[in-house]
Amino acid sequence: GRLPTAESVRAALDGVRRRFQEDREGEVPDYIPELAEVDPELFGIAVAHVSGNVFTAGDADHPFSIQSVSKPFVFALVNHELGRDTVRRRIGVNSTGLPFNSVLAVELNHGSPMNPMVNAGALATTALVPGASPEERWEFIRHGLSRFAGRELRLDERVYASESGTNQRNESIARLLDSYGALARDPVATTALYTRQCSVTVSARDLAVMGATLANGGVCPLTDERVVDAGVCRDTLSALATAGLYERSGDWLYEVGMPGKSGVSGGIITVAPGKGGLGVFSPRLDEAGNSVRGQRVAHFLSGALGMDLFAST
Ligand code: GLN
Repeated sequence: GRLPTAESVRAALDGVRRRFQEDREGEVPDYIPELAEVDPELFGIAVAHVSGNVFTAGDADHPFSIQSVSKPFVFALVNHELGRDTVRRRIGVNSTGLPFNSVLAVELNHGSPMNPMVNAGALATTALVPGASPEERWEFIRHGLSRFAGRELRLDERVYASESGTNQRNESIARLLDSYGALARDPVATTALYTRQCSVTVSARDLAVMGATLANGGVCPLTDERVVDAGVCRDTLSALATAGLYERSGDWLYEVGMPGKSGVSGGIITVAPGKGGLGVFSPRLDEAGNSVRGQRVAHFLSGALGMDLFAST
């Protein structure tokens, strides 16, 4: 299919922003203190074409922590580095049907990380990050995410400190995985690195470009730099289709018809393979931890721009 024209994207972005501006459904998360402080009214939308054109509406440059939207990108970077088969042997690609931070999902599956988009699988993925020291492994992630975004990304120290102080559940998941031999590295260090990865600052614009890099076979459309190969993008997007919105992944795929990934800070990406990426920031979440307005924007734009992968017309 063809790319939507600049004209149609601009009109659709304006329309969708006005349509959902007053939508106040959902709640900001309270389990990470720093996220509970965020202005829930913030609303940013960005679309990035694989050509490098970026269109925005609202608070598209407002900074927030990437949270779980980091998961597909770290998964892609690790796959690129270690190869598909090595990663595939350690991390599954089936949905859990359970919340993203479920301990039960690990236990029910005898310690095998079910998929890279929930915390257990993401921790197992982060444990595979190459590097001789914690600093080298952190730099692999920070630099890799930056290359997807086409600009230098940094850590939000406040979010990192806040989340590190309330991280008992993720530490428990990491230890449980470790007890099954499913974690390639020490559970405490792995949880710390995973928490850093979640605390990287981005904007809706960054998310759109990161999504466009996945849509573009791994070449960032802003820098023309190859970040990962096309096969890795394909594998990452198929894993998103199964589990990007946790236990609401089926609802999402049915309504939006494209792979997507959410995070508890209110960020959400949608990827139209071969076409581009959509990034939305809106902090109020549904019960599964997915941005409410983000889902509605993706649904609306998927239809308005004709991006649904399953539509034949
Ligand atoms: N850092 C968050 C956590 O592990 C990320 C979860 C999310 O965005 N869904 O709880």
